Amino acid sequence: MSEVLVLAETTAAGVRKPSLELLTAARALGEPAAVVFGAADDAVVAQLGEYGATKVYTVDAPGAGEYLSLPKAEAVVQIAQASSPVAILATSSPEGKDVAARVAVRLDSGIITDAVSVALDGGAVVGTQSVFAGRWLARSQVVRGPAVVTMRPNATSAEPAPASAAVESVSVAVSEGAKGAKVTSREAKVSTGRPELTDAALVVAGGRGVGSQEGFAVIETTADALGAAVGASRTVTDQHWAPHELQVGQTGKTVAPSLYLAAGISGAIQHRAGMQSSKTIVVVNKDAKAPLFQIADFGVVGDLHKVLPALVDEVGKRKG
Ligand SMILES: Cc1cc2nc3c(=O)[nH]c(=O)nc-3n(C[C@H](O)[C@H](O)[C@H](O)COP(=O)(O)OP(=O)(O)OC[C@H]3O[C@@H](n4cnc5c(N)ncnc54)[C@H](O)[C@@H]3O)c2cc1C
Repeated sequence: MSEVLVLAETTAAGVRKPSLELLTAARALGEPAAVVFGAADDAVVAQLGEYGATKVYTVDAPGAGEYLSLPKAEAVVQIAQASSPVAILATSSPEGKDVAARVAVRLDSGIITDAVSVALDGGAVVGTQSVFAGRWLARSQVVRGPAVVTMRPNATSAEPAPASAAVESVSVAVSEGAKGAKVTSREAKVSTGRPELTDAALVVAGGRGVGSQEGFAVIETTADALGAAVGASRTVTDQHWAPHELQVGQTGKTVAPSLYLAAGISGAIQHRAGMQSSKTIVVVNKDAKAPLFQIADFGVVGDLHKVLPALVDEVGKRKG
């Protein structure tokens, strides 16, 4: 079976959930082989193996961290040229897409971005994209080269399939051409202490119904009571009631948590595109005819400024 290269993203806490989803999706195409930039400790290798990686390439490229995505693209190209994979999968993050595009150009391969699933059809890789705010699915077949595919986080769920992962260290010399853009400083993002929106199991999201920036605080308080991430509609982020990075939807983030609690959000198609795959959807809206109720598992018709504080009180009592 051919290898499928999976560009794995890691943090101090281990392998990121979108990368575990990629390993799961890769199993439909061939044998997943993870590519990790820098050293991979035993815990990372074990986690990659738990989700089906039979091989872990650890890329040792001295100084690569000082430059943008080019050294990573060069490393992936070198591994692909040596291993002839059937496909190369990356997360649809800004960096994932940047690396994937450069890899596709250098390998003269077809690329599919923002796929929600991948499959083999007669030996060729087919990627499915959800387009026009989720109203249509477009299937495309890659007809040249190892298929390069970036996949949307949360499009599939990460399912374990334990394998024993062999580690192979790859040395890459960063070319002069890859040193065109240098990282001059790094500033750690101030942590809110809340889970990352795209990785979270629980999300509490607020819309225009919160009424103001101050009104958005009830969304944060509810999220904190439940240990959830905070999300928002575009109306809220456009008005700067919440940061843009919290926007859920067609032009924001795609989430698929176990629980999505939407308060004061009407349910425009562009918002639904980013959350409709959530396992359980709870809607709080004072208008019983709000379209989001159509896809809700549970709904409360009422003023969110009364319903959410009552929920927080109840959660507090039960935590006791
Ligand atoms: C190209 C394009 C891309 C877009 N991308 C996105 C996207 O990624 N994400 C996104 O969210 N939108 C996106 N939009 C915007 C989208 O069309 C809607 O305008 C937006 O989602 C509406 O946000 P909202 O539900 O917060 O506001 P509204 O539609 O105004 O709804 C507010 C809701 O709050 C309810 N409400 C009011 N007060 C209360 C209260 N006290 N208690 C309870 N309920 C209350 C109202 O009944 C209403 O249903 C996009 C639009 C376009 C054209």
